[in-house]
Amino acid sequence: MKQNTTCPYCGVGCGVTAELSDQRIIAVSGDSQHPANFGRLCIKGSTLHETTQTEQRLLLPRVDGQNVHWSDAIKAVSSRIRHSLENHGPGSIAMYLSGQLLTEDYYVANKLMKGFLGSSHVDTNSRLCMASTVAGHKRAFGSDSVPGCYEDIELADLIILVGSNAAWNHPILFQRIQATKIQRPQVKVVVIDPRATATCELADLHLAIKPGSDVALFNALLVHLSHSGALDQPFIDQHTEGFKRAVAIAHQDIPDLKTAATLTDVPLADLDTFFDWFTKTPRTLTLFSQGVNQSSSGTDKVNSLINCHLATGRIGKPGSSPFSLTGQPNAMGGREVGGLANQLAAHMEFSPEAINRVQDFWNAPSMAQQPGHKALDLFQAIDRGEIKVLWIMATNPLVSLPNTALIRRALKRCDCVIVSEAMSETDTLTFADIQLPSSTWGEKNGTVTNSERRISRQKGLIKAPGEARHDWEIICDVAKALGFEEGFNFTHPAQVFAEHAALSGFENHGQRSFDISGLSHLSQQEYDQLQPVQWPINQQFPYGRKRLFDDGQFSTPSGRAQFIATETKAPKTLPSAQWPYQLNTGRIRDQWHTMTRTGRAARLFNHRAEPFLDLHPEDAKHHNLYDQDLAELSNHQGRYIGRVRISAAQRKGEVFIPMHWNQQFSGDGYCNALLEGFCDPVSGQPESKQGAVALRAY
Ligand code: SF4
Repeated sequence: MKQNTTCPYCGVGCGVTAELSDQRIIAVSGDSQHPANFGRLCIKGSTLHETTQTEQRLLLPRVDGQNVHWSDAIKAVSSRIRHSLENHGPGSIAMYLSGQLLTEDYYVANKLMKGFLGSSHVDTNSRLCMASTVAGHKRAFGSDSVPGCYEDIELADLIILVGSNAAWNHPILFQRIQATKIQRPQVKVVVIDPRATATCELADLHLAIKPGSDVALFNALLVHLSHSGALDQPFIDQHTEGFKRAVAIAHQDIPDLKTAATLTDVPLADLDTFFDWFTKTPRTLTLFSQGVNQSSSGTDKVNSLINCHLATGRIGKPGSSPFSLTGQPNAMGGREVGGLANQLAAHMEFSPEAINRVQDFWNAPSMAQQPGHKALDLFQAIDRGEIKVLWIMATNPLVSLPNTALIRRALKRCDCVIVSEAMSETDTLTFADIQLPSSTWGEKNGTVTNSERRISRQKGLIKAPGEARHDWEIICDVAKALGFEEGFNFTHPAQVFAEHAALSGFENHGQRSFDISGLSHLSQQEYDQLQPVQWPINQQFPYGRKRLFDDGQFSTPSGRAQFIATETKAPKTLPSAQWPYQLNTGRIRDQWHTMTRTGRAARLFNHRAEPFLDLHPEDAKHHNLYDQDLAELSNHQGRYIGRVRISAAQRKGEVFIPMHWNQQFSGDGYCNALLEGFCDPVSGQPESKQGAVALRAY
């Protein structure tokens, strides 16, 4: 039997056809009808069936080291939450969620915390991935809305990839760019990245910018556009605000091309070429990802590139938009329900009107009144002893967050750590007072939203092993044990989704762009058969909407897009005499996050089998290091040992390491232990792309 579902890895959100036999998924292939991938799958997606074994699964709930019945586990969770509430108040309870969760899981978690327990300390690992884009979108458009769609790849004449190694991290979109290039060889591809990544194989121009200098580059481009006749003046006049100031500040920041070349470390001639192509190509698509977001000035970087699109009116038009590539499969769905500590629900902020509106809708007894702690702040609050109960779901923060020492200390210090997890051996699980076995991909039923706002179904195809249960069910049981029977009496994810959809349309008379109220009356059968669809889905757009802002209407109070004046800022972590190498971190082609799933498919180690570090040939020579030697990176926070890969793709003085390896696979030293944990002041996203380290042979 074959069933369609969605891949649980990256934000491309490919449709997967799973073949089932005897309660097992025995093969997978790309869903030929899914508009994200039209039948293609990358290697991670095509090995999904190899990751569904039941070995190394967490099978039973455990409380304080003892296996217990579910009823006792629920009792233990609810009594510890109640105790903390009564003795320390709502601010003593926190959840740390994940872009791996389904929208329905996220919705009930957020509802319990922000509406019924009165705590807004609900953040998510999406903070590490997308938060700067969320903040940049909100500043520019008044809403966290991606203007374009994947079809724009096939329609663009100039495709710019900024801080994105799409060939490895969004492979199916990269394949769509490749196919476009084959069909229309005149399409130009520009890659802006300090490293010459696999994505550069397709590049007509690679700008190997100095890490962190993106704002300088886009400010220089904005100034250039303002002199070059490429401005869309009617669009600027009718649909935007702040243009003159943004250009004046950009000009002050980057007075001439020479300054741009010095700050970005890009040859003048290459800057000239890039600016010329941008100026002359109306159908320009700028795809950007973690190289932009994971920075202490990530939000400014996002706005500096959006400014160039606004100045040329290239937004929401076929083949023409700034386009954020989401890291995780449901980072977008989490944002939609309010999975970030600074959002309330359904893209609403913590304004008095929104708090009242959501309280009315939920009939909520105890609404959170203000934004909560963002990811790293949250762990700092735990470390200070302010948060007593932490519930972590579907994520492994000990490996994935920067400043590992802080995260370890906080987890040790917290009175009660509850971890909902599918696998039995994650680094974070060792700190859990209460372990709750969760179902995972192939077993759980719900929805995810991909990078182009497309909601797709993930299906429960096989039974979860042991006593593993769905996260939304576990949360609802805890809520009921706390006395909130009425708000959490869901018996199927379709009911949760319908309520979420109804909330998005509640008292929403076109003011909020996130509106999926058109899906609020789906029957269970219709929900099961829901075809991939792009929000908004409402009376005006009953079948979804490909592009936003094509009508020049934005979600700001004035209805106009905002130019945000940005200035170049150096990364917070810079090399020094003691730590002379600039560290860059990222993903590799065949692994996902902390490898708890991909680490189970032997094939996925063929590409990179062990932790490594990429070094420029001259740096290797300086340290007398040869390919495949072991080397150690260290700083005042930690160390990392990896196999040397000598690569001219690296800039001199800079080292790249992968973020995936956990204790189980590396045995010694996480990548993120070397990162300080400086955050963007607007988005709270950590500066995961920049560290400073010393290098030595090991
Ligand atoms: Fe899955 Fe992303 Fe690969 Fe598609 S591109 S198959 S969503 S990992």
